[in-house]
Amino acid sequence: MISITKKIEFEAAHRISNYPGSCSEIHGHTYKLEVTVSGEINPETDMVMDFKNLKEILQKTVIAHFDHTLILKKSTENQTIFSSYLGKITWMESEPTAEQMLVWMVSSITPRLPSGVSLQKLKLHETSGSFATWKNIKG
Ligand SMILES: [Zn+2]
Repeated sequence: MISITKKIEFEAAHRISNYPGSCSEIHGHTYKLEVTVSGEINPETDMVMDFKNLKEILQKTVIAHFDHTLILKKSTENQTIFSSYLGKITWMESEPTAEQMLVWMVSSITPRLPSGVSLQKLKLHETSGSFATWKNIKG
């Protein structure tokens, strides 16, 4: 079994509305995401998966959903405050923490992977010193 990892970046703003501190204010991050998939080497391509195909999947899921948007919990408070906002809002059922964004990413990326390739690990950096990690416990 071999793993390959693709790193991407995207820009987004969010607010953690129930947070007792400055994260309840709208602020932005340059999110850095590392996506690791694993599988056997395909003897026809000598690859687990083409990096280009993995990048395309990440563009259709993570980038299309989150890049240059304002990410908010779909709460009555936020829907009232931002009802006249004309920009792009990504609504989430939860607060848009790195942890909950990872949960969304896992469910969005997994069904698009080729057969025999599985998602192993996702690491989402909000800052250089703060990141959340999801690991596939099934191995
Ligand atoms: Zn933040």
